[in-house]
Amino acid sequence: MRFVDRIIDTDLLYVMFTSGSTGMPKGVAVTHRSVVDYIDWVVEQFDITEKDSIGNQAPFYFDNSILDIYSSVKTGAELHIISEELFHQIPQLLQYLADNRISTIFWVPSALSQVAWSKDFETVDLTKTLKRVLFCGEVMHNKNLNLWRYRLPNVQYANLYGPTEITDACTYYIVNRPFSDDEPLPIGRPMRNTEILVLDDQDKLVIEPDIVGELCVRGTCLAAGYYNDPERTAQSFIQNPLQKAYEEKIYRTGDLVKYNEYHELIYLSRKDFQIKHLGHRIELGEIETAASTLDGVAACCCLYNPVYDFIVLFLEGKSYTSSEINKRLSMLLPRYMLPSLVICLDSMPLNANGKIDRVKLREKYIN
Ligand code: AMP
Repeated sequence: MRFVDRIIDTDLLYVMFTSGSTGMPKGVAVTHRSVVDYIDWVVEQFDITEKDSIGNQAPFYFDNSILDIYSSVKTGAELHIISEELFHQIPQLLQYLADNRISTIFWVPSALSQVAWSKDFETVDLTKTLKRVLFCGEVMHNKNLNLWRYRLPNVQYANLYGPTEITDACTYYIVNRPFSDDEPLPIGRPMRNTEILVLDDQDKLVIEPDIVGELCVRGTCLAAGYYNDPERTAQSFIQNPLQKAYEEKIYRTGDLVKYNEYHELIYLSRKDFQIKHLGHRIELGEIETAASTLDGVAACCCLYNPVYDFIVLFLEGKSYTSSEINKRLSMLLPRYMLPSLVICLDSMPLNANGKIDRVKLREKYIN
């Protein structure tokens, strides 16, 4: 119950439940202040105005929708809520973008990849209307992005990264140079008024390239915590280990990253996707990056069964046998990283947010 009749910027704007792609959903409590700070930056960085039309993919219970909703509220840009069914009917989806003169989309990479692989991508002309393609929520493989860049070279592409706990996104990379299909796309640099701390196992700051650490975040973007859950809040929102003079929280994302030679952040995988297999430490994300480059592969996902020490690779697109895949992958990966089993699917299961549904794959094929 509220005891005052006005809202101040440290009050909650929403409580949003995380996708649960990595465990039990948690109610993330986000304040007005965090959203105002984020949207001010989005509008300025991408130059969104009342002339723009935003084509929304993220359901409103998924935090990518925050960018869509509030940048249109702030600027007066049109917001078009695209029906979920259209994401299964690519020709109609493309026609919708053209008919409504959509200038800006902020979608999950899985949705963009489905368009990239559709033969209908060629048939609708978006060159005069689509200006920005932003994405966030999972890894965007360059092989799929390159199909977009080839088809629509004058569009601005940006890779945003962040979990729900830091108000949608905290780093960004504006795609500004060519990438080969097998290179990782950077997640870039922190957004304005945000600091990223890459911390090693001893909580020491990593600044050199190629050293793996956990991405931690400091700034106004941090959520107020998990609603009604002080215990889990205390586990992830912790005192900044680099300064002990006053109370200051950082959020531990559980994501492993490293810097490249340009001091851009490169996403590797979630900490819990890092496995020990045949005595080697492996990031499953690296196997996915390699598999994504193979001919005819539209989507891929790698899971691990610790009981049987078993790596399973799921592929969508061309049908391969395990031995064919391993022959090709052995040119890209060391032997110990080759999957124990390859399962080819007609289409990957997607969760309610449109991301690859790892929980469903695990339940159906691994457990
Ligand atoms: P959620 O809180 O459900 O939006 O999931 C957030 C998680 O999605 C992050 O912790 C990352 O593991 C992953 N993620 C978000 N954006 C990206 C990105 N641009 N590249 C790779 N992974 C991402």
